[in-house]
Amino acid sequence: MTSYRLENAIVLTMEPGAAVSESGVVVTEGNLLTYAGPAAAAPPTPDATRLDCSGCVVLPGLVNAHTHVSMTLLRGFADDMPLQPWLEEKIWPTEAKLTGEDVYWGALLGICEMLRGGVTCFSDMYHFYRDATRAAVDGGIRACPSGVLLGFLPNAGDMLQQARDFVAETLQTGHSRLHPMFGPHAPYTCPDPLLEQVAEYAGELGVPIHIHLSETAGEVQDSLRDYAHTPVERLQMLGFFRQRVSAAHCVHLTDRDIEILVENQVGVAHCPGSNLKLASGFAPLSRLLKAGAVVGLGTDGCASNNNLDLFQEMLLAGIVDKAVTGDPTTVPAETALTMATREGARSLALEEMTGTLTPGKRADLAVVDLSGPHLQPLYHVYSHLVYAARADDVSMTLVDGEIVYRDGKLTQIDEAEVIAKANECARRLTS
Ligand SMILES: [Zn+2]
Repeated sequence: MTSYRLENAIVLTMEPGAAVSESGVVVTEGNLLTYAGPAAAAPPTPDATRLDCSGCVVLPGLVNAHTHVSMTLLRGFADDMPLQPWLEEKIWPTEAKLTGEDVYWGALLGICEMLRGGVTCFSDMYHFYRDATRAAVDGGIRACPSGVLLGFLPNAGDMLQQARDFVAETLQTGHSRLHPMFGPHAPYTCPDPLLEQVAEYAGELGVPIHIHLSETAGEVQDSLRDYAHTPVERLQMLGFFRQRVSAAHCVHLTDRDIEILVENQVGVAHCPGSNLKLASGFAPLSRLLKAGAVVGLGTDGCASNNNLDLFQEMLLAGIVDKAVTGDPTTVPAETALTMATREGARSLALEEMTGTLTPGKRADLAVVDLSGPHLQPLYHVYSHLVYAARADDVSMTLVDGEIVYRDGKLTQIDEAEVIAKANECARRLTS
């Protein structure tokens, strides 16, 4: 069993109220974390491989709570357009040409980017989800894959049965890095019976549901017109929230919506970059946090961001709400980092598994090198990680106790091959 001892690091466990260990140690054994804290209290580990982390901070691996990872293939393909023409003229017609191979290589491209940026877990909703799942396994990242369900398609019933088979089969494999979910696209694309059926299957199989929710003002207006309720109210009335739910965006919310999300501990995947770029609006982040909502961070797909960089999302989460509310004290740096780690894991129902450096959880770690000129001097490590650090300051990433990225090199993936194949797929798709 491989064991690592990361030494001489600033250690942030991201556990509630935990102190920063200035000269800390983190120990892994197999796929588990067994110690994180001050060097003085660290157990002896004669058999562990020592990793000198001088000048670095070790923290829980970042959690990307909402993406469509294979959309890396459409990065920069169509920008600066209104949402409907963007979807109808550019994105959907191109996606109609997708194959499983495209999704596989697009996903691996995104996984390269995420592992390089300290992301150890991502929640994905897309087509050809078995191929994206294969990419996650090959890349060594933790993943919550879900197949997108669109209720308006004539084969929606078959899609649901296939998604159910996928969830059941994936659970049966017992793969330690795979946590499948159901992925009904959104309340406005799924009729009530489909949503009820999804909730029933999710309950039977004991897995969460990943859905887009109240992303645009138009979606909420249409829901009020067609159902006399907001999308959040409608899902509650359908019994949807009896399951663990990860809801992406949650931009346009009433006070009652926020109460419902909090009462049901719905995980919100806040996606500030996507919301800004698509002009969806400003999610009421500080209201959600004050009310006690579970809020993680997501990048959304690369066609609307255009990257999978959680450092950028932390920065946006930290600064946008300040300007919107006129209050520079909202969403302090430590809160933004908590959203990218502990709360992100909680929003995906993975709080027992990852998100903090807690003995017994999986050893999912990011090591950030603080030696760059843009990180000098160092007064507050949370502040640096959120307001000054960049994804390429990550020097090492471990998932499930395995080094998957170190000093510029991915250990599981032939990055040059992935880049070549992904570019090939992208050229064919958009030609
Ligand atoms: Zn999305």
